[in-house]
Amino acid sequence: MAQKMKKGVVRDSKKKTTKKTDVSKVSVTKKTAVKKTPVANVSQEEVLLQALRGMRDILPDEQPYWERVRKVLSHAAQEYGFQRIDTPLVEFVHLFTRSIGNQTDIVEKEMYTFQTRGGDKVALRPEFTAGIARAFIEHGMGVLPKPVKLFSVGPVYRYDRPQEGRYREFWQGNFDMFGESDPILDAQTIQLAYRVVQQLGLKNIEFQVNSIGVPDSRREYTKALLRYLEAQRGKLCQNCRDRLVTNPMRVLDCKEDKCIQLTTHAPQSLDYLDQESRDHFKRLLEYLDELELPYTINTRLVRGLDYYTKTVFEIWSSDKEGKKYSLGGGGRYDGLIESLGGEPTPAIGFGLGLDRIILEMKRTQVKPYQEAKPKVFLAQLGDMAKKKSLRLFSELEKNGILLAESFGRGSLKSQLRVANRLGVEVTIIVGQKEALDDTAILKDMVSGTQETVTHERLVDAVKKILKSNQLLQG
Ligand code: AMP
Repeated sequence: MAQKMKKGVVRDSKKKTTKKTDVSKVSVTKKTAVKKTPVANVSQEEVLLQALRGMRDILPDEQPYWERVRKVLSHAAQEYGFQRIDTPLVEFVHLFTRSIGNQTDIVEKEMYTFQTRGGDKVALRPEFTAGIARAFIEHGMGVLPKPVKLFSVGPVYRYDRPQEGRYREFWQGNFDMFGESDPILDAQTIQLAYRVVQQLGLKNIEFQVNSIGVPDSRREYTKALLRYLEAQRGKLCQNCRDRLVTNPMRVLDCKEDKCIQLTTHAPQSLDYLDQESRDHFKRLLEYLDELELPYTINTRLVRGLDYYTKTVFEIWSSDKEGKKYSLGGGGRYDGLIESLGGEPTPAIGFGLGLDRIILEMKRTQVKPYQEAKPKVFLAQLGDMAKKKSLRLFSELEKNGILLAESFGRGSLKSQLRVANRLGVEVTIIVGQKEALDDTAILKDMVSGTQETVTHERLVDAVKKILKSNQLLQG
């Protein structure tokens, strides 16, 4: 990309798409660092040293949060019998237009689409379900014992307007179950979503549920909704006026105050459900009550993607001022597999927005994941000691002892300083004499005592000290 950029042209930073910027005048701040020297000999062009708008680096500082989220997700997946699946970031555009729907914001405005050198029209995945449904069909997973439960985690891409909590590259954890239509699966899916947010320590979470029925009943509902909205057309925002033609149900999703007010008394999908969808929804609510999972029915919840049928749900958090953030959502999509050419297969799933979950963890001061700290430090002095220490390090590690070292540092003093900073309980010192004797000095940092032990005895001696310290600490 960079090589194709004209000198000094800033691409896609807000509306600067074609605006020329004199990069030599751009101040070098954290966000707009610009390398002023040409790159090697390959090209004389400037390289913009900044991530693309709406995309960001997840730096080491932030990783403990991500680690905690990843651990909770994969633990929950395991508990509920989900198997991990990874699908490509890139799929044929058609897969998304066919499953998500042509007249949705995602497909119309937000997909990253491009043509490959071979002429294929492809897109970066804007969500997981379409790719997973494709993989389900392609690999004949329909013959597996039902339900087939698949779990995925990774980045997705939407060309949205970036702001806090809204990025163009963001991460989702995604759970899908194929092959069962019983509402108990809907309840279990919601229970799993609960489990994840609870295990992450998030509070003030609200689950909203609704049913949007099946395509036949929805047609009736859409007609009634359209009649109602047409009468208010002049008062709707421009986007919603367009939606009247393309996807009237999306008007219920609009965040503009005037549209929210105008649709307060709009017809509700629940009043237009066919008998089966009605029973399904009723039973889902009974199961949720049985599981004592609190929920609210949000009759405006439609979730905007074409593939949803019957149950839809969303997970919200709210801050002190009452501002709400969507952390995830999902629903049933009983027609999707068949519409893509597979056998009729009911399914349900949900996606969690991991970036938002992490923002929420930070906001509510949930603790990030804490790596186990090393309790032992290995210090050495001289070449021979260094060599022997290398072997000792791997010996101790193999025996499950988490230890730190500072092989790169020469002086014993600076190594011991590192040991102190780490707050280890045991320091092992191999000096020149010990290297010759195949021994090591063991210093118990808690009691201050020290002893010399042979290499054969080292592992046991270290374990003994750690154990007695543990007993002391109760
Ligand atoms: P959706 O598929 O639109 O329901 O999105 C599922 C979840 O992904 C949402 O509830 C958000 O938590 C998260 N999400 C959606 N869009 C974005 C975005 N542009 N940036 C960050 N997170 C997002």
